[in-house]
Amino acid sequence: MNGVNETIEHLLYYASENLDLGVEDIMYARNQLLELFQAQPSDKKGQPKDLQTEILDELIAYALDKKMIEAGEEIRFETKIMGLVTPSCGLVVSTFEEYRDNLGIKVATDYLYNISIASNYIRLCDIKRNIFWCTLGKYGKVGITINLSKPEKDPKQVLAEKSFQGKKYPKCALCLENLGFPGTLTHPARQTLRVVPIELNGEKWHLQYSPYVYYDEHCIALNDNHVPMEINANTFARLLDFVEIFPHYFLGSNADLPIVGGSILSHDHYQGGKKVLPMFSRPFREIIYQDDNVVMGIKDWYNSVVTIKGKNKQAVHKMADRVLKKWIAYSDESVGILAYTTDRHNTITPIASMCGDEFVMDLILRNNRTDDKHPFGIYHPTEDMHNIKKEGIGLIEAMGLFVLPGRLQAEIKEMISILVSGEVDFIELKENPRMQKHMHMIAEIVAENNQPLDRLTARKLVLKKIENACFRILECTAVFKNNEEGQEAFIRFIKTI
Ligand SMILES: [Zn+2]
Repeated sequence: MNGVNETIEHLLYYASENLDLGVEDIMYARNQLLELFQAQPSDKKGQPKDLQTEILDELIAYALDKKMIEAGEEIRFETKIMGLVTPSCGLVVSTFEEYRDNLGIKVATDYLYNISIASNYIRLCDIKRNIFWCTLGKYGKVGITINLSKPEKDPKQVLAEKSFQGKKYPKCALCLENLGFPGTLTHPARQTLRVVPIELNGEKWHLQYSPYVYYDEHCIALNDNHVPMEINANTFARLLDFVEIFPHYFLGSNADLPIVGGSILSHDHYQGGKKVLPMFSRPFREIIYQDDNVVMGIKDWYNSVVTIKGKNKQAVHKMADRVLKKWIAYSDESVGILAYTTDRHNTITPIASMCGDEFVMDLILRNNRTDDKHPFGIYHPTEDMHNIKKEGIGLIEAMGLFVLPGRLQAEIKEMISILVSGEVDFIELKENPRMQKHMHMIAEIVAENNQPLDRLTARKLVLKKIENACFRILECTAVFKNNEEGQEAFIRFIKTI
């Protein structure tokens, strides 16, 4: 192990090469780091080293050894260290704007994305451990990822959150006040977060990248104010403004009702990024309306998507707003759609993108009604799929990319071991708190296949079951089912527009 002061020099060398840290900022950061580690300057020059294994891991080991931090505080401390060598928020904004004005918007977003990776704000070391695969179904491919980088809360955390009484600052994980926030037991450190201002529909918003990178250049547009999510005409105006500024990205909003919405409804925000999500590659199933300005039809996809396309931004906006207003009040009892019971149930997951010089608005029709038979939601995965996905089906899943919980990685391994063991002991399985929920899936595999299974076959069969669950989940979210009756009802709805 090098002396800590040598490692600091390696870090400064890394920052000058990868984070564009200037000479003056290097000197400044050196003193901040020497103070943090209570170290003297090194005589040696920094060398190119691997950021994680040869720099940060060493600094963390040193900090633990000197009792500067306790176990469990590693990531927060790493973020603090990286925050000292990441260009200031103001410099990132001015560089972004300079690139945007002189070299184009794509160069500017590349810059912000690369800074977000180089500063370890996006922890590539964790993201590379995620599992990702694609599978082909009736209406095109679907992507599945088991995401290990989004931390699962441990009981200690949950308890700390529950007993928290004070006023919360920042109010949520999306508030602008996260810039430079040192983090707590329940809130991630954000010294390396960098954002750029954008104007959407005449309002002040900011753009940042998601630290969890569910797909390429996964970004988030966030309202400068902590105001709740709401889908209305302004939503469409903001989404269309965004894709006009960033034509290489899409931007979509989660629905504004529980069950069919995302995990944060308290702060208005949208998700965007590269147009790599499976739904984008799908054509029209049927064009229902066409005039000089817009084309509107049904997308050939697993759930119920109205697609509006046209060069005239205002016309696309106007049509999207009409669809929303019609849908919110629309009931068709023949296919079980009720707009209201005691509450409102209909909403939309809207996604805007550019296709050449045309604006495209994909409106996924959603309904969050529950009944006695479907206590979790009529258009939500039924209980037998909760072992795979229980949370709300947000826009990323609705567009064909399943982000499954990290726990599944270990559980898949365990399922394979159980399947290759020869005799599956279902009584024992019922007692196993982690595997209980997968019992019906294991029983199906056992019933459908000759025993014993080898490891490779068992793995294939388990993954196949997960894939099938994903397709079924997508079809559950369809308010108009993909059968004759459902599609006729879908066309009836569009004709009312
Ligand atoms: Zn907030």
